[in-house]
Amino acid sequence: MSEARSKKIADEVAKRRTFAIISHPDAGKTTITEKVLLHGQQIQKAGTVKGKKSGQHAKSDWMEMEQERGISVTTSVMQFPYRDRLVNLLDTPGHEDFSEDTYRTLTAVDSCLMVIDGAKGVEDRTIKLMEVTRLRDTPIITFMNKLDRDIRDPLELLDEVEDVLKIMCAPITWPIGSGKNFKGVYHLLNDETVLYKTGQGHRIQEVDVIKGLDNPELDERLGVWAEELREQIELVKGASNEFDKELFLAGELTPVYFGTALGNFGVDHMLDGLVDWAPQPQPRETNEGELVSADNSDFSGFIFKIQANMDPRHRDRVAFLRIVSGKYEKGMKMRQVRTGKDVRISDALTFLAGDREHVEEAYPGDIIGLHNHGTIQIGDTFTANADFKFSGIPNFAPELFRRIRLKDPLKQKQLLKGLVQLSEEGAVQVFRPLISNDLIVGAVGVLQFDVVVHRLRTEYKVDAMYENINVATARWVTGDERKVDEFRRKAEANLALDGGDNLSYIAPTMVNLSLAQERYPDITFSHTREH
Ligand code: GDP
Repeated sequence: MSEARSKKIADEVAKRRTFAIISHPDAGKTTITEKVLLHGQQIQKAGTVKGKKSGQHAKSDWMEMEQERGISVTTSVMQFPYRDRLVNLLDTPGHEDFSEDTYRTLTAVDSCLMVIDGAKGVEDRTIKLMEVTRLRDTPIITFMNKLDRDIRDPLELLDEVEDVLKIMCAPITWPIGSGKNFKGVYHLLNDETVLYKTGQGHRIQEVDVIKGLDNPELDERLGVWAEELREQIELVKGASNEFDKELFLAGELTPVYFGTALGNFGVDHMLDGLVDWAPQPQPRETNEGELVSADNSDFSGFIFKIQANMDPRHRDRVAFLRIVSGKYEKGMKMRQVRTGKDVRISDALTFLAGDREHVEEAYPGDIIGLHNHGTIQIGDTFTANADFKFSGIPNFAPELFRRIRLKDPLKQKQLLKGLVQLSEEGAVQVFRPLISNDLIVGAVGVLQFDVVVHRLRTEYKVDAMYENINVATARWVTGDERKVDEFRRKAEANLALDGGDNLSYIAPTMVNLSLAQERYPDITFSHTREH
């Protein structure tokens, strides 16, 4: 490996920031995505990400059903330049039914932006998502949104984040008023006041800045609000944490920004924080416990997401690969570690603000799309020619179950094939009881059931329907081979194989599960399964 090549990779790694947005539905994730892209100057007119209100078809919409319901089912990837950096934003599905996809997407980023509705504060889904980011201590940047509306007391908002989410807050900007009286923000680190203008949501604003807190211009421009700001800032400096980069990188402290995504105000402050402080592409762990770092010059990456029919014109499935190390070059050979096969990849896709383009080269932190004809699974590792696998991409035990039945019984084989493929994508899970010919579909959210029937019809040409079934939960079971064999004999009526032939326990009630766990202490019942 030449020195020049290693240096090139290290330079490209240093430029990159890969992040996702976590928030409760309606907090403003889509709006802030639009503004972020506007700052990345990839789309001239903000407003093309989600078309549910304008009636346009959004770039990330991919299924008729999604459009009908106005829900963003997909995880798309957007790459854009900001200052001298290259930013990858991984969109996570907004609807809570698709949380499993969201969880896996969070394994592919190095930092997260948490968007909170300033009028509402910390909401449930944010709490859940923060739990997931904790698994890897992902650094979090916070944006308090909707300052153009009356929000709650900002200090109280910070307290709530600290109490409920157990992360220290370091305000970087501080708001001056809110709602009709929203005047702008004071930037604590730059010691400057940035004034807010309404009606500027669709463009990059010329910033109106007043340097220094004691500047008399502040009194001229803000009137009584100037004195109030000075008092508040004194209070805030006494009552809150200072920004500390190490604590931020450890996931223990979050820089907090205030603004309005709709008014495109404050989004640039947040982006500046992101490119200055958020980590460059980070190492990932293998199942042997070793870390593969981004400046390792041999190519490696893992699949965190598979998606079908992203674009009706390309009836294909795309596997999303996060590059961990080395460099992707068009036409290169990669090893798919699970199958041991070496494949030549000459048509990987990149995602420049939603448009699919063929990539010539890509670097750690980037996401590339591989065309998948059913051979790639979530969690697959690709390498230059090594045989390690990345760990940590979970499947979650489903919480909802239905029996699936064919309208035309002759198509059983296609049904099974479709279900197994959909479960490989992680869209849903399928269980085949050991003692019957039933097919049980398990999902984390109820909307997934509809997606499955829709896709079975359009992609596999089978008409299926659901029946209720008395299943409360499922667990993957593992243990010593002899013990598992014995368990298999004794508990056969409750056992099934999942899409990947892993043994699972299907419990009619939670009490039944507890009893089984007590009765078979040598068996491990897992709520998650790693691919
Ligand atoms: P998502 O569900 O998190 O993607 O939220 P959206 O971006 O779709 O926003 C939900 C609603 O809040 C939409 O009606 C937005 O127009 C509105 N919204 C988003 N940001 C702001 C903001 O800064 N101020 C106001 N007033 N409304 C906003």
